[in-house]
Amino acid sequence: MSASKALLILCDGLGDRPLDALGGRTPLKAAYKPNLDRLARRGISGIMDPIAPGIRPGSGPAHLAIFGYDPFRYYTGRGIFEALGVGMEIQKGDIVFRFNFATLDKERRVIDRRAGRIREGTRELVKALGNIRIPGVELLFKEGIEHRGILALRGSRLGWKVSDTDPQKEGLKVLPCRSLDDTEESRRTADIINKIMEQAFEILENHPINEARKAKGKPPANAILIRGSSHYEEVPGLKERFGLEGACVAGGTLYKGVAKFVGMEVLEVKGATGTYGTDFRGKFEAAIKGLEDHNFVFLHFKAPDLAGEDGDSLRKIEVIERIDKAISGIEELRDTLIIITADHSTPCALRTHSGDPVPIVISGPGVRVDGNEGFDEFSASKGGLGRIRGLDLMPILADLLNLASKFGA
Ligand SMILES: [Zn+2]
Repeated sequence: MSASKALLILCDGLGDRPLDALGGRTPLKAAYKPNLDRLARRGISGIMDPIAPGIRPGSGPAHLAIFGYDPFRYYTGRGIFEALGVGMEIQKGDIVFRFNFATLDKERRVIDRRAGRIREGTRELVKALGNIRIPGVELLFKEGIEHRGILALRGSRLGWKVSDTDPQKEGLKVLPCRSLDDTEESRRTADIINKIMEQAFEILENHPINEARKAKGKPPANAILIRGSSHYEEVPGLKERFGLEGACVAGGTLYKGVAKFVGMEVLEVKGATGTYGTDFRGKFEAAIKGLEDHNFVFLHFKAPDLAGEDGDSLRKIEVIERIDKAISGIEELRDTLIIITADHSTPCALRTHSGDPVPIVISGPGVRVDGNEGFDEFSASKGGLGRIRGLDLMPILADLLNLASKFGA
């Protein structure tokens, strides 16, 4: 018997390094996770370098690679994924940036890079930004979570290799946007960005929402800081490349955006927040439901990465245990390959991503069970899958699902 569908459960930042506080174990090794261990006993394990050995992947390029898209070819920046993730209609050739609402003084010095993490009123502020006019180019603004937003430039003769205006530090002046490749197109884009920055300041400085914020002693969101230039090109989707009709269950906009980029349908789940407080079980149930009319579902859990970045190994153990509990009953899935892995390691001792490979297990019909006892970084390295790269995963799945075609005659 062989499987006809696949469920990829990606635990962000799951991999870790041995910790003295855990007796030389990793949080995954230390966690009580009967469901994950059972999948390993019934499956084939290995370790995976999301991009390449020793490369510390950002989440965007790592997800691209795992979905079978070479990040060196397809990754231009995070902006487009964030834009797709918040539901913007992005077109081929658009230049897309992320921006922050920020607080500047009259000399354009940054007082607060996040405008006091403004939560309310950003939709109205974004609407006001819609009054900015630059001849010959269409501007699209969209609010994101808290102080974040997206800006897209649409038009001809635009380049995307331009620098950020965010100085990344309070007390410094806003940086002028510059061309990074000295082409006429990028110089034009840089010039447009500088004009947008100036007009945004004029529009936002005296906006009623900011007047009200000042009256309450809150920092006004009187400027935008622009970063992460990227450009959009359409790519052949998972269906075309691997025969996979994909769906995505995730909280964070980045993950939804990468999923959309490769042609998946994003299933919106109430309570999927991309935080510690997310509805783990609700997401799992939505993923199971998604398998009814898709042959590939990608389920993303962000919490292990957050715990790693907080340097909190006990919390990381706790969220791994919550994920394990949330997927209870998973073995009842028939005719489905189950893949558990991560997009990178986020060791608690580092509080950031590392280049350590991540554990991976594939369980389900047709899989050569390798006799591994549990799911963790140590056992996985002895598994039958050996050491693969992120780009290898989709071809392996397409093969196990008998969707692959023969190479040569
Ligand atoms: Zn990640």
